[in-house]
Amino acid sequence: MVLDRPSASLREADLPEPEPGPGQLLVQVDACAVCRTDLHVADGELPNPKLPLVLGHQVVGTVVGEDRRVGIPWLGWTDGECRFCRSGRENLCDRARFTGYDSDGGYAEYTVVDERFCFPLPEGYSGLEAAPLLCAGLIGYRSLRLSGEGERLGLYGFGASAHIVAQVARHEGRRVFAFTRPGDEKGQAFARDLGAVWAGSSDEKPPEELDAAIIFAPVGALVPLALGALAKGGSVVCAGIHMTDIPAFPYELVWGERVLRSVANLTRRDGEEFLALAPQVPVRTVVEAFPLEQANEALDRVRRGQIRGSAVLEVARR
Ligand SMILES: [Zn+2]
Ligand SMILES: [Zn+2]
Repeated sequence: MVLDRPSASLREADLPEPEPGPGQLLVQVDACAVCRTDLHVADGELPNPKLPLVLGHQVVGTVVGEDRRVGIPWLGWTDGECRFCRSGRENLCDRARFTGYDSDGGYAEYTVVDERFCFPLPEGYSGLEAAPLLCAGLIGYRSLRLSGEGERLGLYGFGASAHIVAQVARHEGRRVFAFTRPGDEKGQAFARDLGAVWAGSSDEKPPEELDAAIIFAPVGALVPLALGALAKGGSVVCAGIHMTDIPAFPYELVWGERVLRSVANLTRRDGEEFLALAPQVPVRTVVEAFPLEQANEALDRVRRGQIRGSAVLEVARR
């Protein structure tokens, strides 16, 4: 499924089988989860994607010619030598290349990956179940780590990432407060099913102050709302790659050593840690499967917030 230009629908196409370069593996794709970032790329909200482009950076597949299952994440390549790479922050690499953005990704039957940047996957997860771990899970995990150790955790936007983070947070003894679009009672019920102690609308105040909040929805107006829900010393983490503008807000919302930060990309270490932790929790992903050919419909359902858990494209073997 090919993106020819921003804001166009994806087009079903027959492409030549990609050729792995030095150090790369050819992977036959089993499943690829849909991420909100895919929408930002498709909608032209992120600059300079490769075009035409195959989207998709939560890929589960099998290495061609081997009996080996791998997971392919967003971070596709780094230079290994810039000041960020040399200080354990390869997620910030100046020359990083991203899967399904700078190179073709997993909305396809085959893709290639630099062997150093794919992950072995835990046992006990089907391809459909494992795919959302690779970005929704990974970025959620990094966001949770950077939100601190606080016990009372707010999650703004209860989609693919939050439904995984809620399970990890609960496993760590935290209490989760889930915020959805106003009126999204189904989303709130889903959050309670996954152990949230409270679920309500994003414009509501939680019943007690929060130690941290993670914002998954790409809505800048949530930033002052989340800051307003924090206790002193708490953190708001913005987990998305793109957000609408943040409205002006009074200084008192960050006074008291409250912190506002973003989370960008992932390191391979995040991946190793999270994929080891997931089966211990155990994280159970909730997925809605679509055939690859229905990628446009899947993206549209994500856009409208109509997916319970994560949308995943299932790639049939021919
Ligand atoms: Zn670098
Ligand atoms: Zn993603």
